[in-house]
Amino acid sequence: TYVVIDNCINCKYTDCVEVCPVDCFYEGENTLVIHPDECIDCGVCEPECPADAIRPDTEPGMDSWVELNRKYSELW
Ligand code: SF4
Repeated sequence: TYVVIDNCINCKYTDCVEVCPVDCFYEGENTLVIHPDECIDCGVCEPECPADAIRPDTEPGMDSWVELNRKYSELW
């Protein structure tokens, strides 16, 4: 699963949303978020993000972002 991190705060680009084959981006409080159960881990969105805000959840230090992505995507 990929997660959106704080580089996305108030970002207006939606390049990532447009390329995602399963439409698993949702609107969070001040970032976009990725639904962890819908993401198929394809990685297509990562290089599209101009803010470098999309990371694999296996990177160190991602725990709080994993939680936030889940919390906000489940509100939809
Ligand atoms: Fe969508 Fe693929 Fe990015 Fe997951 S890794 S959010 S499925 S584009």
